[in-house]
Amino acid sequence: MRTTLWLAGLGALVIVAVLTAQVRQGSPRPEVARAASGLALRPALDEIQGDQIAAHLQFLSDDLLEGRAPSTRGGDLAARYLATQLALLGYEPAGENGTYSQDVAIVESMVNRSFTLTAGAGAPFRYLDDVVAFSGVQETQVRTAGEIVFVGHGIVAPEFNWNDYAGVDMKGRIALIMVNDPPAPSDEPQLFGGPALTYYGRWTYKYEEAARQGAAGAILIHTDASATYPWQVVQSSWSGTQYSIPAVAGAPALGLKAWVTDRAAREIAKRAGRELDAMRKAALVRGAKPVPLGIRASATIVQRVQQKTSPNVIGVLRGTNPAQAVLYTAHYDHLGTRDAQPGDPPDADRIYNGATDNASGLSGTIEIAQSLARARTQPARSIYILFTTAEESGLLGAEYFAAHPVLPADAWAGNINIDSLNMAGPSRDIVLLGAERSTLGSLASQLAAERGRVVGPDPAPGNGYFFRSDHFPLAKVGIPALSLSDPVEFTGENPALAKKLHEEYQAKRYHQPGDEIQPWWDYSGAVDDMRFLAELGWRIANTSEMPAYHAGEQFARPRLNSTN
Ligand SMILES: [Zn+2]
Repeated sequence: MRTTLWLAGLGALVIVAVLTAQVRQGSPRPEVARAASGLALRPALDEIQGDQIAAHLQFLSDDLLEGRAPSTRGGDLAARYLATQLALLGYEPAGENGTYSQDVAIVESMVNRSFTLTAGAGAPFRYLDDVVAFSGVQETQVRTAGEIVFVGHGIVAPEFNWNDYAGVDMKGRIALIMVNDPPAPSDEPQLFGGPALTYYGRWTYKYEEAARQGAAGAILIHTDASATYPWQVVQSSWSGTQYSIPAVAGAPALGLKAWVTDRAAREIAKRAGRELDAMRKAALVRGAKPVPLGIRASATIVQRVQQKTSPNVIGVLRGTNPAQAVLYTAHYDHLGTRDAQPGDPPDADRIYNGATDNASGLSGTIEIAQSLARARTQPARSIYILFTTAEESGLLGAEYFAAHPVLPADAWAGNINIDSLNMAGPSRDIVLLGAERSTLGSLASQLAAERGRVVGPDPAPGNGYFFRSDHFPLAKVGIPALSLSDPVEFTGENPALAKKLHEEYQAKRYHQPGDEIQPWWDYSGAVDDMRFLAELGWRIANTSEMPAYHAGEQFARPRLNSTN
């Protein structure tokens, strides 16, 4: 491990923060007893202690674990440690064949750079310059061809009375799609969440919907403005090794998943005798029709495909009503170890320790598991602890669990996801992404009020953070979900310093080898949050009513469908 240099400059302030942290660690916040349930019915919240979080964290972020990449020795060591902790706490194995492991099949693929996309008459579009592409079909050679149909934003949203695929049969055809949400007009300011990004705007949704429509392929049109990042990000994200879980047998899959530049999309429209801007403008309003372009696209993906497996770790604290359950999730994987690069100093730190992301979340979740297991009574619904793999490579462990959820999707009362703890000291707010989407939000707000805290809103709803951690695949199958995020209202000795240290993590250590244990860490805020989430999960396990998404919420639908 290497000490990060910027710390040296903080001097005396850091010493103050360290001293403050040491004083705070052992002093639990006074708890407010609830008359309705009584102390005996609560989780053993005093079992959640900062020094115990620190002890787990020390091991899980050690260089010995080599960055915990899925399907590596270090990743497997982390998984074994977590399974051992669950066993010690009395959780029963809830994986396969009486073990704590649920094996997740991971497909690694890499598209050959000779790829080109042909569309209409004219020169083919070139890989990386004009187009990047991959496939939903995991074979070494996948040929896709069909007529191109422009489908606007490619959205089917009954709650907004919106269907970009109305009246068109996509079988054997290729969809050409705009990214992002349609803009909300002034007379309908909440259409597609107004300024917030809805899942209909995410590129993953566009491919999923095109597949549901039976399309052979889908081509997304990149613009810097609609994607909020430049073409180079598309290039680097979608070339090189890609990870996915095996397609579920019988589920629709796209042979071609492509992105094209705005320039290439204009050229495709032109070859069809159309003007892209005119088509885009027409597609902004409700009731716009899909436009078959009358020209064909074709492409062959040649790829290297490799199969690997890595375990999700899962254990259960059985309730008196084991047919229903609450699910805690925290990912154990991180980015592994980076290859040596020319110019690296000989002692270059190449290990992505992921101390905050997500050794901290794992350690906090173990503490929660302990407090729940040591409650004096059994919960009504069972409580499952799921440590997921391959979050960093695309939420794959959680995707796999969502497809193989141990209990039926509608048996899950709720999911609490913990991805990175706040190490900068106590805060008034606890930010729970997704709180506004389901009745879990009111349970959380009530608990916050009892503790003199508030459930903070998503600080950046336009960035779509709700769609970017392991609770999200669970939300997609209809499970009410919350994900712990960063607070903004620090309340310790020096809130300004706490905020600054927290921001420095984002800027200098997030997804860098420097994400290591820092001497100034103050566990008191994390302890507050873990006690909060332990009690919240306990209440979700014991509340008589089954939590649910609010009417009109996008993620309410799959669950409704599954219970029909
Ligand atoms: Zn993470």
